[in-house]
Amino acid sequence: MALLAIHNARLVTEAWERPGGIVVGHDGRIEALVDAEARPDAETVIDARGRLLFPGFVDAHVHMRDPGYPQKETFATGTVAAACGGVTTVMCMPNTDPPADSAEGIEAVRAAGEGTSLVDFTIQAGVTHDNIGDIPALWDAGVTSFEALLSDAPASMLLDSDGLIRAAEAVAACGGVIGVYTGDRSLVEAALVRLAPRTDFAAFAEARAPVGEAMGLARLIEAARATKARIVARQVCTARGFAMIEDARRGDPSLSIAAEVTPHHFRLDTGAVDRHGPFALMVPPLRASDDRQACRKALASNAADFVGSDHAPHAADEKDRSTPWQVPGGTPGLDTIVPATVDLAASGEIPWTRVAAALSSVPARLFGIAHRKGRLAVGADGDLVLIDPELAKTVDTGAIRSRARRSPFEGMTLTGWPVLTVLRGRVIAKDGRHAADEPCGRWLRRGAVDWS
Ligand SMILES: [Zn+2]
Repeated sequence: MALLAIHNARLVTEAWERPGGIVVGHDGRIEALVDAEARPDAETVIDARGRLLFPGFVDAHVHMRDPGYPQKETFATGTVAAACGGVTTVMCMPNTDPPADSAEGIEAVRAAGEGTSLVDFTIQAGVTHDNIGDIPALWDAGVTSFEALLSDAPASMLLDSDGLIRAAEAVAACGGVIGVYTGDRSLVEAALVRLAPRTDFAAFAEARAPVGEAMGLARLIEAARATKARIVARQVCTARGFAMIEDARRGDPSLSIAAEVTPHHFRLDTGAVDRHGPFALMVPPLRASDDRQACRKALASNAADFVGSDHAPHAADEKDRSTPWQVPGGTPGLDTIVPATVDLAASGEIPWTRVAAALSSVPARLFGIAHRKGRLAVGADGDLVLIDPELAKTVDTGAIRSRARRSPFEGMTLTGWPVLTVLRGRVIAKDGRHAADEPCGRWLRRGAVDWS
């Protein structure tokens, strides 16, 4: 007998939606897709009552901070937020202690996650000037990407143009993927000196004006052109930024540049800083409402390829400071990435198939895990998320499972929430509550990368 059967659902993928059901075998893989009338037998049988069943959602931008920063987040706490929020795979960013930029650092993250993570996870390796030579070995170790920063970090962690080109060349040579947060280092550093006397939270965004993103993206686009590397522009958040990406792709269809957009940039703007103060400060910062609108349009038009949460938790007492310069940038995102995106489909702004693409199949392909994730197909992992498209809830502090607790989405009513999350055939969350018997998330090695 099969492990799990969900029937009477409306199945949604990036390519189609139709009534039907899914059967998952004891190996945790999808055994069959069945038609609308079928009532397959299994150890656990769930009637979806016509609600929407998606392939498990994949969040390609998660700072789990484990090992090293338990006051901010751990796999144990952060993946409860993921499971309850409908995310079944998290791709972990390298700013752990030790950082995931060496074989030892990667092993430390894997060891921290296995046995404590409720969802499956991948590891993304950090790149600085010091470890460019290690790129081939790290790629062979199974990481899903390399991650680099052009601004907003200590100097030892930043790549200059020479470092960016050399890292991109090394990534291209091994057929890898590099994600880059742009911005412009000298603009930020000069602005931080100039704006130092300011104590209002609006100064945080002024120090990181939209022109910095444009300057950084210009370097990124030219690096992609010069090296043929596959480059993911992380957290694109301005109208100008998306216009640059679209122009570059149109001008040179062979260019391998993908763009990520975050829910906070397509749902929130500087007004959230007025309401939530330090809890709405992140890097890149929330922008003006016309940039927020541009991010939404980019998601609808595919100028933004996928949605990543940039889940970047900090303890409440680390965030709750009286001037912007003492506040670490970042907010939790795993709790809200799915409803913040699904709500746009519930209101008719984007099709349901676009939700399946932007939150599941596209990041799975770009980062080389589509052999297991992002598909409703026989042989893929039985990762499934049931969405009630009519369930409306207002985000409040009690709904944030991340250890960070406070979210700039507080007070926002969103329609369309996960009511069931399944990892490899086992129910891990139900009706917004943690329902796993034990943490059974595993590290996932990358397979083939597909940017076709
Ligand atoms: Zn990030």
